[in-house]
Amino acid sequence: EGNADLGVSLPALHIACMGLEKIIPRLSDLAVFTRLLARSATGQPITTYTSHFHGPRPGGQLHIVIVDNGRTDIRATPAYRSALQCIRCGACMNTCPVYRRSGGHSYSHTVPGPIGSILAPASDPQAHHSLPYACTLCGSCTDVCPVKIPLHHQLLAWRGELAQRKMIPLGKRLSMKLARIVLGTPWIYRSAGWLARKSLRILPHWLTHNRLNTWTRQRELPSAPQKSFRELYRKMKG
Ligand code: SF4
Repeated sequence: EGNADLGVSLPALHIACMGLEKIIPRLSDLAVFTRLLARSATGQPITTYTSHFHGPRPGGQLHIVIVDNGRTDIRATPAYRSALQCIRCGACMNTCPVYRRSGGHSYSHTVPGPIGSILAPASDPQAHHSLPYACTLCGSCTDVCPVKIPLHHQLLAWRGELAQRKMIPLGKRLSMKLARIVLGTPWIYRSAGWLARKSLRILPHWLTHNRLNTWTRQRELPSAPQKSFRELYRKMKG
């Protein structure tokens, strides 16, 4: 990238930081990673954001700081170890239905998206316990990941682990129990959908958009559809 190249060309001192998982086995493997990254990130054979440094500029200094910051702990955990294979291409984010609607800042972590929702609780489970629950478990991230990280399986594993560590707030525990009953009982599910479609059309705005409902603090609810998906599907099939 132009900024990076300029930044390392002008000053005599170049300090680069990298996570320890970014070390690759051999120089000959670099071409594989470079092509994998560019193709999965932007669909290009190579991007302009690729710079090769072979040492300090003449008369200058180059220091490389290899950062651990919890990575060896992740490496020692078989369930999440493969998350360190991530090359930060962003493909899992671009395909994730949650990321595409919520955006990177909503994750409150340096790395957002599916891979961020695995790495964030590993660094601070108390602060990031909600992230694995934002996943729909659709598996789209796992499908596109070029380094074959089983992302949605790891997100599911995090849910189990956070529950075991008793880090799930009471409100979420109760709502999950309720969701299990509703989603597991077709007639309750259908009735709940019918009631929501009818009532959302007539309820006053303040009843659904208030301080208790954090979801609607910054957004509007879409208008309730006239028919359920099943009804539309049946009609389409004739
Ligand atoms: S987890 Fe896979 S798809 Fe997501 S950024 Fe890392 S390498 Fe790319």
